[in-house]
Amino acid sequence: MDKSSPVLVSGGTGYVASWIIHDLLKAGYHVRTSVRDKSNITKYQHLLNIEAETEGTLEVFEADLLQRNAFIKPVDGCEVVFHTASPFKVGSVKNAYRDLVEPALKGTENVLNAALQEASVRRVVLTSSVVSVFGDAIEINDTPQHKFTEENWNRTNTESYQPYNYSKTIAEKKAWEIAKLQEQWQLVVINPGFVMGPSLTARKDSTSIDFMINLTGGKFKTGVPDFYYGVVDVRDVAQAHIKAAFNPETSGRHLLVNETISILDFAAIIRSEFPELPLPKRLVPKHLFYLLGPLMGFSWKYIKNNWGIKYAFDNSYSKSDLGIKYRKIKDTLTDHVNQLKRDHLI
Ligand code: NAP
Repeated sequence: MDKSSPVLVSGGTGYVASWIIHDLLKAGYHVRTSVRDKSNITKYQHLLNIEAETEGTLEVFEADLLQRNAFIKPVDGCEVVFHTASPFKVGSVKNAYRDLVEPALKGTENVLNAALQEASVRRVVLTSSVVSVFGDAIEINDTPQHKFTEENWNRTNTESYQPYNYSKTIAEKKAWEIAKLQEQWQLVVINPGFVMGPSLTARKDSTSIDFMINLTGGKFKTGVPDFYYGVVDVRDVAQAHIKAAFNPETSGRHLLVNETISILDFAAIIRSEFPELPLPKRLVPKHLFYLLGPLMGFSWKYIKNNWGIKYAFDNSYSKSDLGIKYRKIKDTLTDHVNQLKRDHLI
């Protein structure tokens, strides 16, 4: 690919997008990114700093996911479009349609429709999620190999039950629907698990960062629920997007998960490197969590279908198609905690 032709990454202020942009700038690409409010430079100053230190160049556009034609100008002349921007909020949300479903779905339509109108586009890489693949951990019992694969789709979440998962599922479905109507560009989808690892900003409101601050800062010290998450390093996620964009042989969906661990496992791994941190050492009793969980956005149904159920993903396609070599979880978590300490967030 000609490195002078621009590539667009939507949502440059985000945790994941920032690492994609970092790697693209380091590789010398001309990167465009969209932000919601261009006048709020503090939200993307880190990208300007990376641009100053690398060969690549950066152009910042203002675009809201809900504005119909907002992405026409940023996409103009691009060969590759990475669509990463989407609200990531779990737990209690005030209005699931307005806060999650609408921006995820309309954003995908608006970005992909802009790509349809621009003849230069050859590839669209969409950041989906493992939550488009399954709804509740209990669904692992219906999988033949006891592993979720790219064949699986989340069929159980709705706007009122795990709305973030629902928003990602319908957005990815919409992307495949639009992609199948044309032959100009190919869609490649990345489905990361829970993304961890150092952030390029000191921003606290990203869900991955917020989780880590709470875990290491003592909020869950008295105990945690017995839930499991498939974990992946943010730097591996960025590389997966880049491989998907520039290797024309890649195709389809890609589960991007290193390992599935419990919240208590997170704490134990971190404690082995940072014994001074106020990390949880025990589980909250399940009956107590039935009382507390709903106050934190965990319904009884969610607790019933997820508590204590370990599940797994088949990540072999990410290795064979994208050539991903996963970092060790211990390095991911250690680097993340070191970044939080460096930025005085814990
Ligand atoms: P993040 O740090 O919260 O970033 C979300 C980005 O989306 C921000 O740039 C945000 O802009 C933008 N955005 C949200 N609503 C918008 C709107 N209406 N118009 C324009 N931009 C909007 O979250 P992240 O972890 O980087 O997530 C990025 C992507 O990865 C999302 O698609 C998410 O679903 C996916 N993903 C994340 C994880 C994870 O564990 N982090 C796992 C799987 C998939 P503002 O800065 O203006 O708010």
